[in-house]
Amino acid sequence: MKQNFYEPDHESFREVVAAFVEREVLPNLDRWDEQRLIDRETWLVAGRQGIIGLSAPEEFGGPASPDYRFRMVVLEELGKAFATSLASSFSLQDDILIPYISAFGTDEQRRRWLPPMISGELIAAIAMTEPGTGSDLQGIRTSAVRVDGGWRVNGAKTFITSGIQCDLVVVVARTDPEGGPHGFTLLVVEKDMPGFTRGRKLDKVGLDAQDTAELFFEDVFVPEANVLGEVGGGMAQLKQMLPLERLSIAAHAVAVSEAVLANTVEYTRQRTAFGKRIADFQNTRFQLAEMATELDVTRAYVERAILAHNAGELTVVDAAKAKWWASEIQNRIIDRCLQLHGGYGYMLEYPVARAFKDARIQKIFGGTNEIMKHIIGRDLVGRP
Ligand SMILES: Cc1cc2nc3c(=O)[nH]c(=O)nc-3n(C[C@H](O)[C@H](O)[C@H](O)COP(=O)(O)OP(=O)(O)OC[C@H]3O[C@@H](n4cnc5c(N)ncnc54)[C@H](O)[C@@H]3O)c2cc1C
Repeated sequence: MKQNFYEPDHESFREVVAAFVEREVLPNLDRWDEQRLIDRETWLVAGRQGIIGLSAPEEFGGPASPDYRFRMVVLEELGKAFATSLASSFSLQDDILIPYISAFGTDEQRRRWLPPMISGELIAAIAMTEPGTGSDLQGIRTSAVRVDGGWRVNGAKTFITSGIQCDLVVVVARTDPEGGPHGFTLLVVEKDMPGFTRGRKLDKVGLDAQDTAELFFEDVFVPEANVLGEVGGGMAQLKQMLPLERLSIAAHAVAVSEAVLANTVEYTRQRTAFGKRIADFQNTRFQLAEMATELDVTRAYVERAILAHNAGELTVVDAAKAKWWASEIQNRIIDRCLQLHGGYGYMLEYPVARAFKDARIQKIFGGTNEIMKHIIGRDLVGRP
């Protein structure tokens, strides 16, 4: 039941991405994990080869018509290499930051930031989460007070992806303490602004090569020219962009699960016990059959969501369904694949073990899976 999700252009692009992975990614994966940082040079090569910047408008160097299927190709090829940290870092740039600047930036902001983001010279981050609040964004305490020519920002953010490397960070700040949901604004803080400092690189369960950090803002002056979108419109802007962020997590989940399952099928064909291949035990065949089916069904939903996104029709609820479901399936599949590897599945030199560590976050970031179900439930039965 093969359907034509991809067209010849996507397959030609796949060859470019596969060559990039072979040359620039595979030889460096272990080192990136050890140094817990991806080389900046890799971003520049990806930029030169058109592997990032796929969501940017054409006038700034993006593609003629953004099509998420190209992003899916990138996720699939990085998935096959188990380059999860890199995939997730590129997703942040392509599926969150470039769309934010494209959608809400003024012409001047777009001209200033988009070309270097597409070329990989400028790495961007988004800072919503704080030590005291994550799911409940209304609890954000980082404040911005209006001063002559701009805003004075104070506060702290945590768990910020690309927090160590980023050159620019979109900060969600409270600009009107009495404004309720209309009291938040997106402000772009740039790396050299006095008062902006980074904390330690956080030690995580997985995604070793990705730099996740705390960020601090002490009387940081942000000029009016760095307000992204409407003052007071921050929460609405976040809501508008969350479906794409969640689609990105679901797409990544499918790509990685397919790679892990393929790798496990191969392993069970090679490994023997009790004089048979592991693949010959009925339990193994049933496990593989169940996983292949679950994954195909999940893929069909995610592909539908990708096409809906391309058509500008992906809803908040559908994206929430894709995110929680695909990330649960990913974790379930990887756990079962690890089991089929026996003790080797627990050894980090085996891809399944790394995939296991890296998968867990998928159920937490981009809005926890509980929050996804809250969104879907609210759509079904209204607010409590
Ligand atoms: C590796 C990593 C990278 C990240 N990258 C970024 C980033 O780049 N930028 C950024 O801003 N943030 C980032 N985050 C933060 C991430 O989005 C938050 O951790 C996540 O939204 C959850 O918030 P929290 O950690 O405060 O958990 P909490 O909100 O404290 O939740 C704790 C538990 O309570 C549950 N819960 C909360 N509210 C409800 C509810 N209404 N109903 C039912 N259950 C509920 C949650 O589901 C969870 O199980 C990252 C986190 C990690 C770990």
